[in-house]
Amino acid sequence: MTEIVEGPQLEAGSGDLLAVPVFADRNWGPGADAAAAALGEWIDSYLDARDFTGKPGQLVAVPGGDLPYGSVLFVGLGDEADAEALRRAAGSFGRFAAPYPVAATTLHLVDVDGAVEAVTLGFTLGGYQFDKYRSEPKPRANERLVLLGAGDDAGDAIERGQAVAEGVLLARDLVNEPAGGKPPEVLAGIAADLSADIDVEIIEEDEARERGFGGLLAVASGATNRPRMVILRYEPDGATSSLALVGKGIVFDSGGLSIKPAGAMETMKTDMSGAAAVYGAMQTIARLRLPIRVFGVTPLTENMTGGAAQHPGDVLVAYNGKTIEVLNTDAEGRLVLSDALALAAEQEPDLIVDVATLTGASQVALGMKIGAVIGNDDESVEQVEAAARFAGEKLWRLPLEAEYRSLIDSTIADMKNTGSRHGGAITAALLLEEFVDERPWVHLDIAGPARADKDEHYITKGGTGFAVRTLVELARERSTAD
Ligand code: MN
Ligand code: MN
Repeated sequence: MTEIVEGPQLEAGSGDLLAVPVFADRNWGPGADAAAAALGEWIDSYLDARDFTGKPGQLVAVPGGDLPYGSVLFVGLGDEADAEALRRAAGSFGRFAAPYPVAATTLHLVDVDGAVEAVTLGFTLGGYQFDKYRSEPKPRANERLVLLGAGDDAGDAIERGQAVAEGVLLARDLVNEPAGGKPPEVLAGIAADLSADIDVEIIEEDEARERGFGGLLAVASGATNRPRMVILRYEPDGATSSLALVGKGIVFDSGGLSIKPAGAMETMKTDMSGAAAVYGAMQTIARLRLPIRVFGVTPLTENMTGGAAQHPGDVLVAYNGKTIEVLNTDAEGRLVLSDALALAAEQEPDLIVDVATLTGASQVALGMKIGAVIGNDDESVEQVEAAARFAGEKLWRLPLEAEYRSLIDSTIADMKNTGSRHGGAITAALLLEEFVDERPWVHLDIAGPARADKDEHYITKGGTGFAVRTLVELARERSTAD
């Protein structure tokens, strides 16, 4: 990861690339005025010719001239500079900076709360590459980012930004890993090594059967790679609040016997993004030493079509004793979550949050950049929404509509795992609600934003690590100690 350090004022610094912010209508931000003056009068007509006005996402690079920097990058910020605008600008800068060993910037001098953390985070996320499977990796020469004139107190903010980035990038790495490289056994092993401050319990098949994890085992029945239930505990001394984080960990979703069409399967290694978000968030929470107890639960399995696969119409008994008729084996996320949520509820945490790439219906409702949030407690839902806004992740609330509960009534069991064609994100959540034992609970359906189909600001094509930042911010807000 790029080293990020405080540095001197612009004139006294040096580097291969200097990035300076420009507001809408080409109003120079901090450092841009000095850079433009040093470059000379030609820069205005040059930027005119490139139609650079300072819109968000605009980038123009020029040779550094007499400045002590090889090149100067003008970065558009738009009208309203807030923390998210800074993260996004820094993300574009982070990607652009790949070939430059030493980059420097004044972006963090924009007058915004948390600017240093935002620039650190955005730059690091935007510079991410997943090169593991390339025989000739695209080289990223960038080694260092210098925050010019950041001041002595910037160190803590840099550390916070890097801690959050580490969690997001862990999640991206895990999601981008092909299914063949992350069977449950392997993914569980990675979870076991997240942090010295997180205790991890890995439950294998025999014990899962003894304990009655009927949802996990039903989904796993058609897979050769056997499942794991992974329980994580972060229990710092003195913490008085508690949070349970539950993440869907389907490492590959073929749909099971209700098999998906080939095209829909291409990205199904993404179906463990919820578990990846829990791992990333817990790693960051531990690194930041937040005073809150966090109980993580991630059911890990493939959903495959082997000879022992569950049949459409089978009935399973979940961990809390409730029964589910499985009419469509491709609605498997709610089955593994049934056990996991019941396990979480048993710990009696102050709040349960689950994260899952759960329904295509959430994509239909909200598109690919917005996650759905649904819960049984208004105050908790609003707190999660506020954390997401602060973190720069987009969520939109859908109702937990009690009148729709009859849509998942089964003729032979307590419920069935399919609803009607309409409102599918809501009927999925209504099934999950059966397993939280009426405790405060918030469900995040991230089927849309868990992956991106192109590079854009700090988002990189593939797994996005969505929800890590919201969960960390939520934990930060709910942290309490004696
Ligand atoms: Mn499915
Ligand atoms: Mn799935």
